[in-house]
Amino acid sequence: MTSTTTANGCLVCDGSESETLYDGILRCRSCGYVFADMNLSDEELFQLYNEEFFTGAEFSDYASDERFFRKNFELRFRELQKFTDPARHNTLLEIGSAYGFFLDTVRARFRSVEGIDITDAGIAFARERFKLDVVQADFLAHDYGARKFDVVCMWDTIEHLREPQKYVEKIAAHTEPGALLALTTGDIESLNSRLRGRSWRLIHPPTHLHYFSPATIKLLLERHGFEVVYNRPCGFWRSFGNVAYNVLVLRQNQPQLFKPFEWTGLARLGFYLNLYDIMYVIARRR
Ligand SMILES: [Zn+2]
Repeated sequence: MTSTTTANGCLVCDGSESETLYDGILRCRSCGYVFADMNLSDEELFQLYNEEFFTGAEFSDYASDERFFRKNFELRFRELQKFTDPARHNTLLEIGSAYGFFLDTVRARFRSVEGIDITDAGIAFARERFKLDVVQADFLAHDYGARKFDVVCMWDTIEHLREPQKYVEKIAAHTEPGALLALTTGDIESLNSRLRGRSWRLIHPPTHLHYFSPATIKLLLERHGFEVVYNRPCGFWRSFGNVAYNVLVLRQNQPQLFKPFEWTGLARLGFYLNLYDIMYVIARRR
């Protein structure tokens, strides 16, 4: 393994030395945090999340899987509710709100729900279809003034961010003690990740830039004033279409093999799977 010095230090522990874990993937020698070895400009990042992200580049057709996203969000919310107090947790912000399926699923349970996302297609859909309060912006660049939120959610989002530590820091600034931060992300130290190595489906630069473990996500959150109160592997509903698209089109570049899934309607059917390689983390602001 080669050791390199990271210019700005590890974003989790400030350590300055990293080593190569896989091709293009580095690991901090001090804390074990794993990250993609690349620097994206603002422009490159916005390019990645244009309309095609949800309709071809990363998902075959995100909106058509609405039923399965909602099932997942119901499951996530059922766990989150074990930590929420209806008298204390009234306002919710979702960072990376995509098409608004989560916000629409839980809106009746909060006084207010709102979202922020950089993709124009998702924001337009959430506004038109659900009349949700969502803004198209980068959370770091958006001015929330002195506003505070009681619950902040980031579903499958933190791994996409260029500077996740700044997000956590800003979330801390817009929450009061007792507020909750809930997120899901891959677990690089899970058995499935170790077995699959560089081929683990969540190793996916340049959209996935960060690969946390229970230890490194805890370090990051604690450093910015959050205590982890829950961390468990979570399963998910998926459509056969979504899985087939990922494997046949994105990985193997065989779009003709994907067609039968659409013709037969198999793409619209779904299943539940828990590979124990996605962490569901809930943290409470100190
Ligand atoms: Zn580190």
